[in-house]
Amino acid sequence: MHVHAHPDDESSKGAASTAMYVAKGVDVHVVTCTGGERGSVLNPNMDRPDVLENITEIRRAEMESARQILGVSQDWLGFVDSGWPEGDPKPPLPEGCFGLVPLEEATEPLVRLIRSFRPHVITTYDENGGYPHPDHIKCHEISVAAFEAAADPERFPDAGEPWQPLKLYYQHGFNRPKAVALHEAALEQGIESVFAERLKDWKPDPVWDARVTTQVPCAEYFPVRDQALIAHATQIDPDGFFFQIPMELQQRVWPTEDFELVTSLVDSQLPEDDLFAGIV
Ligand SMILES: [Zn+2]
Repeated sequence: MHVHAHPDDESSKGAASTAMYVAKGVDVHVVTCTGGERGSVLNPNMDRPDVLENITEIRRAEMESARQILGVSQDWLGFVDSGWPEGDPKPPLPEGCFGLVPLEEATEPLVRLIRSFRPHVITTYDENGGYPHPDHIKCHEISVAAFEAAADPERFPDAGEPWQPLKLYYQHGFNRPKAVALHEAALEQGIESVFAERLKDWKPDPVWDARVTTQVPCAEYFPVRDQALIAHATQIDPDGFFFQIPMELQQRVWPTEDFELVTSLVDSQLPEDDLFAGIV
């Protein structure tokens, strides 16, 4: 079970390993906390008044296409996108948004889903949200809380039969060593590197990088990931950042998606190459 903040996060984070596990016969479920109502339109071709007026319905339809491409099942938690607070100082979050829902209340529907889907493995974002969007941080908080509460019969007694998930991971898809490896390989081949700007201000942080415990080989499924991303047409510019690095180079230089094992109730030897290592 992957817990994500917005429709499109399931396609930009861990999507190739998702497609790989689905191909192996694993039942993968995506939980989408919010409807992405406050996301801006990031594809210039879709930045039109008719799109903006119907953004909620359009993002639902986009999610449905991505869901089919990835071969997963999916549920919405039904919370409202908090939006990306812009300005200095940042404005308060809009009333009623996901970021402002009290933790207990926001955790219950996820506990309910865990108890009905019964996943062995759950992934979410790290404590900084992967990037500091209020919905990503909230997604982290409810995932950690729900992982702990799901097996406890005294917590949320009206949310189904207790279920004990076995492993909790954080997504580490955009790590610096990967960006450096792709950057250097691009330059070597005489290709302009999309990472040049980002790497200028991205200081090495060996302690953070060392948190990756699990690298899942899934290069064969990178094209499926890209298809799922493109299905989110309002959010993804097909000429944008994600698609600037040649597929062959990505598959050769960094053929894995990377995760951090945070909690485990089974024995598995680190580093791992499989989210299900130790689960029989
Ligand atoms: Zn997001």
